[in-house]
Amino acid sequence: MTQLSKGLHFCEYCMEEPVADPRFDITSSGDVTMEFSSGRIWVMPDMILHYVEDHKFLPEQEFVDDVMNGQLTGGERLQTKAAPRPIGYLEGPFPTGNVPEGFIERLEELMQLAEKLG
Ligand SMILES: [Zn+2]
Repeated sequence: MTQLSKGLHFCEYCMEEPVADPRFDITSSGDVTMEFSSGRIWVMPDMILHYVEDHKFLPEQEFVDDVMNGQLTGGERLQTKAAPRPIGYLEGPFPTGNVPEGFIERLEELMQLAEKLG
């Protein structure tokens, strides 16, 4: 991943307006790629959990749907490999709102699983 060359990245929103008690790490050290049963592939910074939980970032609906209802797919069905869609690389203003109940927990689980799948 080319993103790795950037090294440790601090949350720029916390630099402007720090969260009193952030639940997730405010530094990012890499990206996570997730491939879902929907056929969509997403790539995101590991700090997306912090953005959603602590800054109320609202990701686009297709991503929310995949996280809530999708399954991570195995490696053997990737012959139609599309370029991953980036999500959560925030710059400047971003959409905010409420994600569905359980979204954060499920995303956290999926990210851990995706890292294991490599
Ligand atoms: Zn932050």
